Amino acid sequence: MILFDPAADAGWLDYGILIPFPADRPAKIVDFLGEAARRFPGPVLQLDQALELLGEKAPFAVEQRDVELIHASDYVEVLFQKGDDAPLTRALLDIYELIDADGKPNRYDAARAVKPMRDMFERAILGRLAGSYVAARLALEGGEGFCYYLAGGNHHARYEWGAGFCVLNDVVFTARKLQHERRAKLIWIIDVDAHKGCGSAELVDFIRRGLNPHSFEEGCGILTLSAHMARGWPLDAETLSGSLPDRAPNISSDIEIPIEAGEEALYNQKLEAGLRRLEDLSGGAACDLAIVVDGADPYEKDELASAALLALTLGQLVERGNLIYTFLSERGIKSVWLLAGGYGERAWEPAAYFLESLAAAPLATKGLT
Ligand SMILES: [Zn+2]
Repeated sequence: MILFDPAADAGWLDYGILIPFPADRPAKIVDFLGEAARRFPGPVLQLDQALELLGEKAPFAVEQRDVELIHASDYVEVLFQKGDDAPLTRALLDIYELIDADGKPNRYDAARAVKPMRDMFERAILGRLAGSYVAARLALEGGEGFCYYLAGGNHHARYEWGAGFCVLNDVVFTARKLQHERRAKLIWIIDVDAHKGCGSAELVDFIRRGLNPHSFEEGCGILTLSAHMARGWPLDAETLSGSLPDRAPNISSDIEIPIEAGEEALYNQKLEAGLRRLEDLSGGAACDLAIVVDGADPYEKDELASAALLALTLGQLVERGNLIYTFLSERGIKSVWLLAGGYGERAWEPAAYFLESLAAAPLATKGLT
């Protein structure tokens, strides 16, 4: 099952933002899959169809109190506060790095904005939280135990502020909302974006250390795995947290798999060993859901300079997807996949070819029916 929500795709220029985000990546994946998409059990769903299937009312509203399960209430208040949009606008300008060190606009032209930032927040940011959560519900309740959401994966957002174009962390949000609603207890986050899942590691760590007032419900927990570039952003970003050892990006994921430049041939082998360690760490407890942050930016054709230290081939990336998929399905673990990072003209290819490979082999034969 694939969830495709074009309504949440922001036309960035409408808000005066001049960063060339590839907003058409999900549509290119759907176009490429064509007939193959029809071979998935269940069609490519849009958000309102998914909500109908789940028996939920549309539109689905993300509640402020749910976001406060993972982020500091002061920060959430800045974003949700209606009436005066100035605090929200200031926060977004900072997190999207639209103001330079001298206070001048950077890749931003307010005069070209035809819509308020509030609209972008509600559509693109809260829309992603809703999409990731609904996709996870489809994975849990939709019958196939698998859903790929063609968006989401904002894994750099930290406890009390966003970072790296990630305003709110839809990955940990999804896990915590499901746990809060008693739909899942143990959840794995398997993050294979090129950049370390530093915000997710911090959010989980803060809950464990009691730095977040909202603790895990009885019997619930999250284990994190991150396979990422051993160097570069965010690991060298001192400003991210003032370089405190107990803050992102310095907090370790439970399973940390740093990949050095030139180690690409070992990537899938190291990932497989990491997945086994993740299972060992669970101590025999059943994992109810895996959230896969399926970044395409380790791709050798990716155009983001800060992802250049990892250059996997398309074949290695399809193998990576199949490795994770098979590992989970052999254990009967349901999974939701988030599109996450991917930049440039060919950023759509890794997810598209991976999904095509799944469509070629019916899911039922892989242990999830
Ligand atoms: Zn990335």
